[in-house]
Amino acid sequence: MALIWNEMTAGRIADTLKAQWIQGDPEVRFHGIATDSRQACDGKLFWALKGERFDAHDFLDQAAAKGASGLLVQSGRILPPLKREDMVVLAVENPQQALGTLAAWWRHQIPLKVVAVTGSAGKTTTKEMIATILSLGEKTLWNEGNLNNLIGLPLTLFRLESDHRCAVLEMGMNRKGEIAALTEIADPDVGVITNVGPAHTEGLGGLAGVAAAKVELIERIRSTASVVVNGDNKPLMEAVAGFNRPVVTFGFAPGNTVRADRIKARGHEGFTFDLVYGGHTYTMTVSVPGLQNVWNALGAAAAALCLNTHPDQIAEGLRLFKGMHGRFEIHFLGNNILLVDDTYNANPLALETTLTSLEGLAAGGRRIVIGLGDMLELGDKAPHEHREAGRRVTETGAEWFLAAGRHASDMQAGAIEAGMPPDHIRAVADAAAMLETIVPLLQEGDLVFLKGSRRMGLDLVSRGLHDTFGEGEHS
Ligand code: ADP
Repeated sequence: MALIWNEMTAGRIADTLKAQWIQGDPEVRFHGIATDSRQACDGKLFWALKGERFDAHDFLDQAAAKGASGLLVQSGRILPPLKREDMVVLAVENPQQALGTLAAWWRHQIPLKVVAVTGSAGKTTTKEMIATILSLGEKTLWNEGNLNNLIGLPLTLFRLESDHRCAVLEMGMNRKGEIAALTEIADPDVGVITNVGPAHTEGLGGLAGVAAAKVELIERIRSTASVVVNGDNKPLMEAVAGFNRPVVTFGFAPGNTVRADRIKARGHEGFTFDLVYGGHTYTMTVSVPGLQNVWNALGAAAAALCLNTHPDQIAEGLRLFKGMHGRFEIHFLGNNILLVDDTYNANPLALETTLTSLEGLAAGGRRIVIGLGDMLELGDKAPHEHREAGRRVTETGAEWFLAAGRHASDMQAGAIEAGMPPDHIRAVADAAAMLETIVPLLQEGDLVFLKGSRRMGLDLVSRGLHDTFGEGEHS
């Protein structure tokens, strides 16, 4: 089906944004929006955004050369002489805010159900699970990769086509006010908060600050929308208690609206559990391991139930979801080594939750070997959180612990305090050193768990283990 973009004129965009008209024909129609002048801009409206490192106003010529049909710029900027007189040029006070304004307008041009997902951990996985479920029934859009901020989310909404009926939008943040702004743009029918944990505490002033920033979703969401929250997560529920509105809770504890009962681990194949809701019980299969994914599945199921999705469709979607790269991803290597690649990212909540699943995966006598990289953006809490991480590693019964980064010595100290023999710990500088150190320590049948913040690049260790040991048999 045709994009409605092609039906929208420059004049209509200018009216919607109350933009200043600088030049061009108001009847021009754009094929979409471009923000990167290095990419093809054919027939698109080039939106001049100012980032931390670049100001797109410096690349207007390049955008024009790449085929842009129009430019949206900041009012008052001196523009270079434009070689193409046919070019539409619009100006607004704040191009970034205007991007959100147009996206919010665009979202309402289509009869659509929107689910928004935020939280300290599990946003992407929960979003993908919801999208897998909903797309079994209706055409569904969801954000790709990390397009979850005040630029990525509007750009995702611009991909909506007239036959989309659902959108699942991840909302990320590292500053106060971001979730409020994203909620206003997305105008969700269902808002999900997966959890609150010590992530981004640097910018937000501790756990209470993180919780306050996440519940901006509840502050701003439409009063008729459903709010879905993790009822097992104490800091979140404390923040939710401040609101006088009904919420749907999910979790393992009795009393949650959507609850998991009789959870059975199936090793690296995931879980089965009974989903209990409204006096009914439905058997669910999650095809990915890691207990965190049962919470994510419950959050996804609760969101889908708010949209009246049939439980059979939810069960099918959860069964079909096959996990995501670098998120508790299972690899079978040569020498019967089982690698759990969780290198996509890390924060203390994610680490604590994921470590609890290792013992089950090691059943049958595998030794546990853990490689952790620094968890970033924790501010002055960092030394304490890394010592805690070391302590938690010890509790898994790990045979070897490799810690990499500036906080390696904190992790090492925590592990020693908790009783791990010092000669079973290696503190190293970075991912490359971890790879070099880990290889000679590994034995046949080991379970290797790797995790660290994205910028620590522990995926290098994962790739290095593949190169060293090769692919193995599924066992
Ligand atoms: P986000 O998008 O919030 O960063 P992801 O779904 O990408 O979350 O998962 C990133 C990591 O967070 C995973 O690799 C896993 O270690 C951890 N994680 C995922 N879901 C949860 C959860 N529900 N609770 C705690 N940790 C989780």
